[in-house]
Amino acid sequence: MKGAGHSRVWKLTVTFFAIGSWMGRVGPRPADGELATLTSTRERLQTVHQVLKEVPLIDGHNDLPWNIRNFVHNQLNEFDFDKDLRQISPWSKSAWSQTDLLRLQQGMVGGQFWVAYVPCKSQYLNAVQLTLEQVDLIKRLIDKYSDYMEFASSSREILEAHSRGKIAGLIGVEGGHSLGSSLAVLRTLYQLGVRYLTLTHTCNTPWAKSSSVEEEDNGNGGGLTDFGKVVVREMNRLGMLIDLSHTARVTMRDALEVSKAPLIFSHSSAFSICNSTRNVPDDVLKQLAVNGGLVMVTFFNYFVKCGPDASVTDVAEHIYYIRNLIGVDYIGVGGDFDGINKTPRGLEDVSRYPELFAELLRSGKWNVEDLKKVAGLNLLRVFRQVEKVRDDMQKDGIRPLEILLDSPDTIGNCALDINSVQRLTEV
Ligand SMILES: [Zn+2]
Repeated sequence: MKGAGHSRVWKLTVTFFAIGSWMGRVGPRPADGELATLTSTRERLQTVHQVLKEVPLIDGHNDLPWNIRNFVHNQLNEFDFDKDLRQISPWSKSAWSQTDLLRLQQGMVGGQFWVAYVPCKSQYLNAVQLTLEQVDLIKRLIDKYSDYMEFASSSREILEAHSRGKIAGLIGVEGGHSLGSSLAVLRTLYQLGVRYLTLTHTCNTPWAKSSSVEEEDNGNGGGLTDFGKVVVREMNRLGMLIDLSHTARVTMRDALEVSKAPLIFSHSSAFSICNSTRNVPDDVLKQLAVNGGLVMVTFFNYFVKCGPDASVTDVAEHIYYIRNLIGVDYIGVGGDFDGINKTPRGLEDVSRYPELFAELLRSGKWNVEDLKKVAGLNLLRVFRQVEKVRDDMQKDGIRPLEILLDSPDTIGNCALDINSVQRLTEV
């Protein structure tokens, strides 16, 4: 009886697997390298859901922390991130709000760079303090919602969080003005867990040029001063990702020349499709591939279509274009949610990422391995390489860089010029 039962179960199992593997040929989960010819939207979304369970989807840029400052003055006790914010004022009334935990889960986000951004207007004033407050806010946010999120400061920690079913929360600082031209501040931000710095936001810093103030005739060189190049090398030594979104083309080219590690664009798309200076021109994309870096394609309609209307198909066009130019290994996603007020149809908020990946499958030219790369494997590769450069520099005995910058940051109205303070060397 026992034996006979076993053999029947065995036959059933074999039949089941035979059907299962046959279904695998045409069903919703093609093998990794196989072209996905899935006919229905449902099948494509099923495949995407399976892929995003296997590999964390890591988004490069979300501005929620700035909205928390704007809307509730960083008072987290007034912020219910685990509720549907579309129903809660002031979030429900704002065109800039597209993020909450429930929608992040629906969107299968596995890792998020939360952005510690402070406005350029604070440069030479209290930019450093405000940045520290945003870093503190992000850490408190991750802590308050530890059932959903886990703080991550390395490639390994992203994967660990994902394996526990949590969203890995990372920190990026958007804008070199947040450093107050101080390598000590840069190192301290690293110690606090910051893992990327965007070299500029919409203002020049004393050491790097921004795309927003880029002159028509930008020639070659002149994007980073000598001190700017030192910032890049110190970031290499620390193991911090260098983000070139918002920088001038001359800055992009200088940074690509100086950096020993791969660079990223945390939220930029292809200039050839939409000629906004926030997008990346072809020659820089080609250099980025040589550098082994990553462009995390962004969703703001004005950078997707250079106008107020765009769709998920238009975002996919940027991805196809970059893939055709430099290959699939250098593409990621950086939605810029909560930092934009015009989102593409089909990509309205953080719950919609799977629609983008399903759209890529719809082309019939994408296999599962390609999807995994764009979702997170490419970012993980870049992050590991940045960590390796850090480790190699440490092995080579390279010490923290000590450069004296006669910085305008320390002679503003609101700063003490420390060099002017008389020190008594003898009593
Ligand atoms: Zn930005």
